[in-house]
Amino acid sequence: MNISMMNNLQKKLEDMRSWGDDAKCKGQPAEWWFAESYATTIGRLQTKKAKQICAICPVQTKCLDHANQNDETFGIWGGLTPKERGVGRLARPSYKSR
Ligand code: SF4
Repeated sequence: MNISMMNNLQKKLEDMRSWGDDAKCKGQPAEWWFAESYATTIGRLQTKKAKQICAICPVQTKCLDHANQNDETFGIWGGLTPKERGVGRLARPSYKSR
């Protein structure tokens, strides 16, 4: 990792620290925001639950700004799916071997 990459990572972490403590998702199951698959009933229920929590989150705008500025390509950020943000995918990437 070069100096530029380290500086970008540090900036990203500092940005998240400034609002992460107020996040309503803090302490909640991560799979609600990063479902294994949206094609399953459980995935849709997890996503629905995440969006309900995001809807009452006091840092929703900061969260969405973070996702847009850092090219977050999967998962729910700021209450929006990747499709709703116009990027990437909802489900976690599969790491299964071919
Ligand atoms: S908007 Fe949603 S994903 Fe973002 S910090 Fe709030 S609860 Fe978490």
